Amino acid sequence: MTQNISWDQYFMSLAILISLRSKDPSSKVGAVLVRENKIIGTGYNGFPTGCDESQFPWERDVDGEGWLNTKYPYVIHAEANALLNTVTESNGCEIFVTLHPCNECAKLMIQGGVKRVTYLSDKHKGVDAFVAARKLLEVTGVEVRKMDAGDLNLPLIVDNFKTYS
Ligand SMILES: [Zn+2]
Repeated sequence: MTQNISWDQYFMSLAILISLRSKDPSSKVGAVLVRENKIIGTGYNGFPTGCDESQFPWERDVDGEGWLNTKYPYVIHAEANALLNTVTESNGCEIFVTLHPCNECAKLMIQGGVKRVTYLSDKHKGVDAFVAARKLLEVTGVEVRKMDAGDLNLPLIVDNFKTYS
């Protein structure tokens, strides 16, 4: 265990922390947009400003009640929120995200000039939206890297969090 964290560990650990802001009970995703090792935007999955769970559902699918009664029509993904929250021009930046992007976010990131994607989980790997995302990123030359939990130096992070308890 080294005594400080690398840039990759720094940004991905932040993405995990940011994901904890999400109120989605089944999937919490965090994203950090970075250019030259400076953070230019962050985001997590959630409903648009002014929309909350008193009016919109977090359900993935409700038997027989259809798409309108799931979260899918209403939620903004972490990557999209990060792009919308940027404090400066995003062209040429990279993104650290806790889950591999879907096709909708891949399109937004390509148009936003994201040149590299680093992700942690690819639990939806076989799902069409993620197959399409990989194709979009590959064709447009966006570099895609996977980090694993073992790459994060979690023992150092956890030990240091404990010093504040
Ligand atoms: Zn997405």
